[in-house]
Amino acid sequence: MAYLPSEQRYDIMKYNRCGRSGLKLPAVALGLWHNFGGVTLFENSRAMIRRAFDLGITHFDLANNYGPPPGAAEENFGRILKLDLHGYRDELIISTKAGYWMWPGPYGDWGSKKYLVASLDQSLKRMGLEYVDIFYHHRPDPETPLEETMSALDLLVRQGKTLYVGLSNYDVETTKKALAILKELGTPCLIHQMSYSMFNRWPEDGLLSLLKAEGVGSIAYSPLAKGLLTDRYLNGIPADSRAASSSPFLNPQDITEDKIAKVRRLNELAKARGQSLAQMAVAWLLREGRLTSVLIGASKVSQIEDCVGALANLDFTPAELQQIEEILK
Ligand code: NDP
Repeated sequence: MAYLPSEQRYDIMKYNRCGRSGLKLPAVALGLWHNFGGVTLFENSRAMIRRAFDLGITHFDLANNYGPPPGAAEENFGRILKLDLHGYRDELIISTKAGYWMWPGPYGDWGSKKYLVASLDQSLKRMGLEYVDIFYHHRPDPETPLEETMSALDLLVRQGKTLYVGLSNYDVETTKKALAILKELGTPCLIHQMSYSMFNRWPEDGLLSLLKAEGVGSIAYSPLAKGLLTDRYLNGIPADSRAASSSPFLNPQDITEDKIAKVRRLNELAKARGQSLAQMAVAWLLREGRLTSVLIGASKVSQIEDCVGALANLDFTPAELQQIEEILK
């Protein structure tokens, strides 16, 4: 049966303005890093995209190298767009990135204009798109002049291949320089995508305040610490979890007793708030409008539903915040 999006899809999601731009992003966005590649069940990936869109998730985040194998997530997403969402392109914000290793030789990695321009062309072909909404430089390149990388982003906007540009994994100092170059070129940076969760708070050390002052949006990736900040690992490592899979990005040895002891205490606090731990972890990041959006990953439709449920309670009492600090200490 052909997919028809829910008519209620804009009823519960919150949309936050991205910095000082004209664009609003859903408070919860979906990333396709894991569970959308060639080794996962296509129908499960497809069901997750459909359910996400029904819940008001208009923003889907990709990168050239998401898979495995690299490129597979963009190919699968392209198929899903064609099958289910072809009439809805103007309701979607699709992002992709380049900056990590993608193809052999000196032109398939880091931050040269040669790499960025070729990579976005490849991404557009894989997804069957004429343009993406946001194109990110995925990580700073210590060897390529920042001016060259930023002028590649500016060029891609002028060519109509992306509407906006973003930075990811840039430290505070490099972000500051990159924002100034982009502003000068006339292509202001829309958004910064950074790792951020209760277990990883580096953006609090200068990055968030810089973005706020500069009117740049912020989107937190791995907000659930790749699954740790959920009820997933409370009783061991489930066979269908990321830690049990071949993904090198969460290993059983990352799930230490110390971490799980904290997770248990956070889980109790979440329960007292009437939330799941995943919901509390999402709400904690979004509280008081601190971020534009939280970029979750998922392996099941039910996880997306649960995370969007966080929006029902984004408020924390001072006592709850203090308790969280106490647990994380
Ligand atoms: P999360 O921290 O949200 O972890 C996602 C994992 O948490 C899921 O795969 C699932 O684990 C588990 N999970 C999600 N929701 C629930 C729930 N409600 N209850 C229980 N468990 C849950 O994020 P990711 O690490 O997946 O990253 C999200 C996105 O961020 C990526 O897809 C990508 O778009 C972006 N990203 C960007 C990077 C960059 O360099 N710019 C780097 C990394 C990510 P399980 O699979 O075990 O079920």
